[in-house]
Amino acid sequence: MSVVYDCIVIGAGIQGSCTALQLVKKQQNTLLLEQFVLPHSRGSSHGQSRIIRKAYEEDFYTQMMQESYELWAQLEKEAGVELFRRTGLLVMGPENSGGFMKLKATMQRHKIPLELLEKQEFNQRIPNVNLTEGNEALIDTFAGVLYADRAVQAVQRLFKASGGVIADGQRVTSITPGEVVTVATSSAVYRAKSLVITAGAWANRVLKHTQLQLPLKVVKINVCYWKEKIPGTYSVGQNFPCFIQMEPKEGEYDIYGLPSNEYPGLMKEAGEHSRSLQSHHT
Ligand SMILES: Cc1cc2nc3c(=O)[nH]c(=O)nc-3n(C[C@H](O)[C@H](O)[C@H](O)COP(=O)(O)OP(=O)(O)OC[C@H]3O[C@@H](n4cnc5c(N)ncnc54)[C@H](O)[C@@H]3O)c2cc1C
Repeated sequence: MSVVYDCIVIGAGIQGSCTALQLVKKQQNTLLLEQFVLPHSRGSSHGQSRIIRKAYEEDFYTQMMQESYELWAQLEKEAGVELFRRTGLLVMGPENSGGFMKLKATMQRHKIPLELLEKQEFNQRIPNVNLTEGNEALIDTFAGVLYADRAVQAVQRLFKASGGVIADGQRVTSITPGEVVTVATSSAVYRAKSLVITAGAWANRVLKHTQLQLPLKVVKINVCYWKEKIPGTYSVGQNFPCFIQMEPKEGEYDIYGLPSNEYPGLMKEAGEHSRSLQSHHT
């Protein structure tokens, strides 16, 4: 008779890997299943960097971030690797626009440290960037960059070191619910008392096996790299912050970016509809 795990987690992106790690820490015998051979670059969690921030419009995100920062610091300690670099986050948006005012109010309500930048101060603090006429700016001072690939690998390493099992290169092809859940993959059959699905953009495909469907919309995010106009100015080394331009004059997307770091002289930039229900998929 095959082993019955306490829990199977489907999907070894950052969500599934962290969930699996927390489960083994609670003495749950856990199997983490992944369709691709690890590490892979086909989900949402790959890439060198991500922004971490407390500046959100929604209360629940801002509230969650307190614990999130603590967990990242704990992970850095346990894994013995640097995962977070504080840079601050510059948020710019039209004054009196719904989005920017909401974000500012949420930060103030939760007493998140922030600096409001008047036009003159902005020019001194953020040289070589033009604040759009009619825009306001603030800095979320504790925001920064998370080293994404390094983080996923650190979590998976700790998970295995704590007794967790990873089976990669195995796509889940069926789920049979019951007191003991049976999960079949392209090459094996596993059983567990409970199941967590963290399949990212594939969530509804995996959920189909359970007859459940969620109102998710998968969006493609194009990542671009801007060449620094004035070399060195916009780099992590020069303390240039991560940034978000909310509701830019031309264009329907908020634009967010990170100081040059991954590739010398190139800033990472992407755009997204921040106010619609979505899941990320590259
Ligand atoms: C370009 C980009 C920039 C982003 N920037 C930021 C940022 O700056 N700050 C921030 O906080 N967030 C950012 N995000 C969002 C963040 O990266 C995602 O929310 C996060 O990575 C989602 O992780 P996940 O584990 O849910 O998904 P994924 O990493 O996609 O993991 C899902 C996993 O499930 C596996 N899977 C799916 N189906 C099956 C199956 N049938 N069998 C087995 N395995 C399966 C997949 O292969 C995949 O590995 C960004 C996302 C993108 C794409």
